[in-house]
Amino acid sequence: MTIEPVRSDDRQPSVGEKGVQPCLPPLTGNQKMIYSALLGLGRTAKAYELLDLLREQGVKAAPTVYRALNELMEKGLVRHIVSMQTFVALPTSDPAQGRSVMLVCEDCGKARPLENKPLLSALRSNARKSGFEVKSYHLEIATSCSHCGCGNGQVS
Ligand SMILES: [Zn+2]
Repeated sequence: MTIEPVRSDDRQPSVGEKGVQPCLPPLTGNQKMIYSALLGLGRTAKAYELLDLLREQGVKAAPTVYRALNELMEKGLVRHIVSMQTFVALPTSDPAQGRSVMLVCEDCGKARPLENKPLLSALRSNARKSGFEVKSYHLEIATSCSHCGCGNGQVS
């Protein structure tokens, strides 16, 4: 699956996806570079891994990477996977700031948001029954993805 990560000035018409990519927020040069690299990896990555990948393109310092990652998180294009100390790019901007449930493969680092409204409303209502109002949540669920096997010990 190929998804054009950013809208560039030299528009690339063949995206391989149906329809037009929903509008992404405007990105600076560094944000664009780091978002594209992370999206291209198709998995989570540490900031230093991104720095190594982008050194040849002129990214020389870790603070540059962290600043761009923070800005991309604010735009809803990148999520921080706290349990793995990594970051993952989302194919489209997800404005659900402060509310995320991520499935993370412990083996290959692939990560994907879990969209399950019944589950999330059950979470809210259970919290309410216990006397708490959910304001934000960041859940990370350790998994084994379908490519890596279903935790049955098989190695593909
Ligand atoms: Zn995996």
